[in-house]
Amino acid sequence: MEDATILDFEFEAHTNPRTGDDRAAILANPGFGKVFTDHMAVIRYSADKGWHDARIQPYAPLQIDPACAVLHYAQEIFEGLKAYRLPDGGAALFRPEENARRFRESAERMAMAPLPEELFLASIRELVKADRDWIPEGEGASLYLRPFMFASETFLGVKPASEYLYLVIASPAGAYFKGGAPSVTLWVSDHYTRAAPGGTGAAKCGGNYAASLVAQAEAIRQGCDQVVFLDAVENRYVEELGGMNVFFVFDDGSISTPPLSGTILPGITRESLITLARGAGVEVREERYSIDQWRDDAKSGRLREAFACGTAAVVTPIGAVRGNGFEFQIGNGGPGMLTERLREQLVGIQRGVAPDPHGWLERL
Ligand code: PMP
Repeated sequence: MEDATILDFEFEAHTNPRTGDDRAAILANPGFGKVFTDHMAVIRYSADKGWHDARIQPYAPLQIDPACAVLHYAQEIFEGLKAYRLPDGGAALFRPEENARRFRESAERMAMAPLPEELFLASIRELVKADRDWIPEGEGASLYLRPFMFASETFLGVKPASEYLYLVIASPAGAYFKGGAPSVTLWVSDHYTRAAPGGTGAAKCGGNYAASLVAQAEAIRQGCDQVVFLDAVENRYVEELGGMNVFFVFDDGSISTPPLSGTILPGITRESLITLARGAGVEVREERYSIDQWRDDAKSGRLREAFACGTAAVVTPIGAVRGNGFEFQIGNGGPGMLTERLREQLVGIQRGVAPDPHGWLERL
């Protein structure tokens, strides 16, 4: 078996890439997740060969056998991270080794072959190197990177597959929100839960997102922006949103966030904000917080701010919360001071314009 950590990537250049003008037109208004760069990274796994055949090749559709295991039993995981354009024209990644680790942990939970972290990192670096002209400039813009892996074996038996395909695709993304995020209104689902103890909540597997869509659709129907899930056992404790972790800011200046109980995704933004807040002398508690307490604290004024966080929207203020038979506002409904301060500090590091005491930025 090859030593996967030292695989060399074979580079096959696109013979008909988009022109500079086409690319510039796309980068001027990229939207999110609709347009992809000229290349993709691909690595194959089979039980007998291990990880092999690492390539950067032209972006193209895949051919999949109808009996491909992922189409039936959903052995699939993914990651999401961004490449940023630096003020000097260079490019950088934010804590990519954390995505590499989480990807390996997700694979282990889904009984998939874990991709060596060095290989994950090499695939990201090689793809960004090939398509670095696709990193947009401007506040909030980035090149969104989507590593993913699925069971590619042609077999209908229910068992961990013996073949996997790992890919990275990249998509330029515009500023999510220019100059500070607007507040969102959350819908508390009292019917649907996201993850139960012992389940897959801490893994970034496609199935978790499939299961969350009906709850998100309910939130939209109720006139809200995002769903917030409660725990599956007591249906009381706040867990997270469909794609973001959540924080609470109190009148004594402390903050709290739900603990990593195994049922929520261990967000890299979440961990970074905990570190930044503690570094600034803010008390941070990782503790369970019930929806009733949230409502009482918002009403009494003990709770001053709340925000959601993740790679896509970075830090998003929560303005109001609604559920069956109740609604409450947080603070004055707008972004709070600590929320803004943490967002600016994090974005400053990611953009290479603020001190980076933890060495989180990887220059490419
Ligand atoms: N929770 C869920 C369910 C998510 O999909 C995400 C996005 N990856 C997050 C939280 C935030 O994680 P991160 O900060 O690593 O993007």
